Amino acid sequence: MENTYKKIHQSAIVVDLHNDYMEERVHHSEHRLYANNKHHTDVARLKEGGVNVQFFVIWTRPDEHDDHFSRSLELIDILEADIAECKGEIEIAKNYNDIIKIVDKEKIAAVLCLEGGQLIGNDIENINKLYQRGMRYLTLAWNYGTDWCGGANDNENKGLAEFGKQVIDCLNQLGVMIDVSHVNKKSLEDVLNYTDATVIATHSGAYGANNSKRNLNDEHIKEIARRGGVIGSVFYPYFLNNTDKATIKDVMNHINYIRNLTGNVDCIALGSDFDGIDITPVGLENVSKFPNLTKALFDEGYTIDEITKILGTNALRVFKNICG
Ligand SMILES: [Zn+2]
Repeated sequence: MENTYKKIHQSAIVVDLHNDYMEERVHHSEHRLYANNKHHTDVARLKEGGVNVQFFVIWTRPDEHDDHFSRSLELIDILEADIAECKGEIEIAKNYNDIIKIVDKEKIAAVLCLEGGQLIGNDIENINKLYQRGMRYLTLAWNYGTDWCGGANDNENKGLAEFGKQVIDCLNQLGVMIDVSHVNKKSLEDVLNYTDATVIATHSGAYGANNSKRNLNDEHIKEIARRGGVIGSVFYPYFLNNTDKATIKDVMNHINYIRNLTGNVDCIALGSDFDGIDITPVGLENVSKFPNLTKALFDEGYTIDEITKILGTNALRVFKNICG
């Protein structure tokens, strides 16, 4: 039994859609990808956890910087330098072929993504620049959104403004995935009304499984699934069960809920939020622990095909379709 889940995990391409390594990195300079560290993420533990594709998040606190766009470029510079310190164990991927080539070499593919519309500095041209640097998804808002898109903690009537529609057009044109995690309900509905594009929620749970405002309601989950998008299962205890204590069972509750709601696992992916969360579920303490989730899926009766989809091929399907 033990062997079986380990084999499934090893032969799957494991994709985590949301890792906040950079957030810990900028506040603790000793926290580096190449070395074992006290936080959730480093190259040795990514390998131990069988992670093949890691999305690295560039994020700024909306109240911490005046020029978020310049700061985002600085953060990308730091991330690239940190990856370079890993002696070729991690390589940046900008398209699907890059990912496959890197994974075939048994290296880890890193994909850059940005969390929060503030990072584009209210200038469409900056989206092009960030795309050139490797951005392959943009989370439209963080908890506090922008003047053009509402976040989870904003006024519930705040929707998507005209400029937000231009942002969406630009993302669609370039082939950048639209991430709606953190986006408030009104703005999410506006996004879905404005564009037919496939959208993703990189680190969210199901509101039906736990009533957190960071989770997606049934209607939105079904619509994301209908468009062929994915929802990255998040590991943050508060989103899982509204407390500071959670286990893998709580993560499974959300996965089971979404599977039952949509009738299949095709919209289920992983979005741990490691290094962006101060507490973690028991059994999922850092990036080396992903095999424990595979074991839970296996024990629950998910087929090998379903587990492989959840671990990575669902996310890769969307990435390939949108980013090329
Ligand atoms: Zn987040």
